[in-house]
Amino acid sequence: MAATIVAVMMPVGAFLGAEAWLARSLNQHLRETAQMIVQRIDGSIERAVLALRDADSRGLDECLPEDREAMRLLVFESPVLKEVAVLDANGAIRCNNIGSLVQITSASTPFVTRDRRLSLAVVVARGPHARALRVIWRSSETNAVGGLVSVGLFVPYQSVHDSNIGLGIDIEVTPGGKLVSMRGPGGVEGSLDVNAVIASRSFPVQVTVTASEGAWRNRDGWMVMLATVLGAILGLLIAGLMLLAGRRGDPMVGMRQALAGGEFIPYYQPILDIDTGRIVGCEVLVRWRKPDGTMISPGAFIGEAERSGFIFPLTLEVMRQAAAELGPSYRNRPELKCGFNLCAAHFRDETIISDVVAIFGSADVKLSQVLLEVTERDPLPDMDVARAIIARFQDMGVRVALDDVGTGHGGMSYLLKLRVDVMKIDKLFIDALGAERQSTAIVDSLIDLAAHLNMDVVAEGVETFDQVEALRRRGVRSAQGYVFAPPLPGSSYVQLVEAMEPVAEVQAPIRKALRG
Ligand code: C2E
Ligand code: MG
Ligand code: MG
Repeated sequence: MAATIVAVMMPVGAFLGAEAWLARSLNQHLRETAQMIVQRIDGSIERAVLALRDADSRGLDECLPEDREAMRLLVFESPVLKEVAVLDANGAIRCNNIGSLVQITSASTPFVTRDRRLSLAVVVARGPHARALRVIWRSSETNAVGGLVSVGLFVPYQSVHDSNIGLGIDIEVTPGGKLVSMRGPGGVEGSLDVNAVIASRSFPVQVTVTASEGAWRNRDGWMVMLATVLGAILGLLIAGLMLLAGRRGDPMVGMRQALAGGEFIPYYQPILDIDTGRIVGCEVLVRWRKPDGTMISPGAFIGEAERSGFIFPLTLEVMRQAAAELGPSYRNRPELKCGFNLCAAHFRDETIISDVVAIFGSADVKLSQVLLEVTERDPLPDMDVARAIIARFQDMGVRVALDDVGTGHGGMSYLLKLRVDVMKIDKLFIDALGAERQSTAIVDSLIDLAAHLNMDVVAEGVETFDQVEALRRRGVRSAQGYVFAPPLPGSSYVQLVEAMEPVAEVQAPIRKALRG
């Protein structure tokens, strides 16, 4: 699932990221161009003003021949002015450095700037870029000098023609004085225009730079394609690696394969009557036998099996194998029991009941020979549901034991509420029997409680004859542990049963013979 999400999301993410980058880069390009033009306009006006203030201070307003001479010199020295003129109160040219050579006419009224002495106007003159900016410096009501600034100083004509993205530049002396309006080649029919508008902070001038989105996409769109393809490849690669790592790292996959390959097998630990020395049954303990023969104990995988839900098919498999393996010997020995470990999750709903009936309902190992162990180590999800399930089992003759008593969550309340048939006292207390007063006292009270609740007691993990003796003294009848036998492979357990527990029809003549 996660791998699929990665495989889909990576190219989608790369595509969206590249699209966002494309839009951002166009926007940035337009803003930078507009910014650059505004800076050039500001710089040109500032230089023009310096030259015009100089002209004004020289008192050229008489328009004498020497005044015209001075104007020519001023233009020659100025890096930005094409013309200098003395203007009348209405802004009309009284005289300038070029005389009647060029006709210059107003195309807008003058726009006053923040400095009332300075105004800007649009004029039309000659030449390929006929419009020009008239910068006017008026030091008194009557006296004004004006200078012409060519738009060529701030419009990057070459870039406009070369960019091939339908680049447009509009410069306006606000409000309404159109100074420049041009559009370069490359616009795409029907495509959206994107623009950036930047106004000068010093003068009433606004620059708009436009471009065709489609043309920009045609130019740089291959990067979106490339990013999407790379994203798809990367996504597939990562997803593949995730799947691989998941396969390798997911214990469920390994365990399921092992189950299908018959690697999980039941072992059987005999449970003995310590008074008579007879086998009363066994506890079925699962083992994972790897193909190389390595035997893995349940401690290494039961936890993961419970967390992942693998415990359900595993339990059923163990039960099926045990039913088949023990069937021939158990069929004639109805008193023998066979205990299976269940986990807390088995007591969530009644599925386990139908599963047990399906396996043992018509097997040689009868339901009355089955003992189900519910451990006290893990908390049960719902005590009432667990009790109901246990009651159903008891009704059909299946016995139920509380396992690992003394170690877990339940304490006394589990014993009282669940009303199981058997109490299995954990090895922890059996170990301390006789040696540790507190543990001995706990075992004593557990045995006492079991007697009151009409439960049988099984002692787990009995390793010494002293422990056997101590248990016997306390009236405990059943025990399992290495002192008698470890968990055995099926064939060994069956042999042991057949050797030690002759079937009823064999027992009678033997007993008769023994009696003489
Ligand atoms: P458990 O149900 O309490 O089983 C008793 C454990 O004590 C077994 O360990 C058994 O081999 C070990 N044992 C028995 N006698 C002695 C002894 O004298 N000395 C010592 N040191 N150990 C002894 P095992 O087989 O390793 O199983 C451990 C636990 O794994 C079991 O504890 C049980 O909780 C769980 N388990 C085993 N098989 C299954 C299974 O099929 N299903 C489930 N849900 N749990 C299982
Ligand atoms: Mg057990
Ligand atoms: Mg136990």
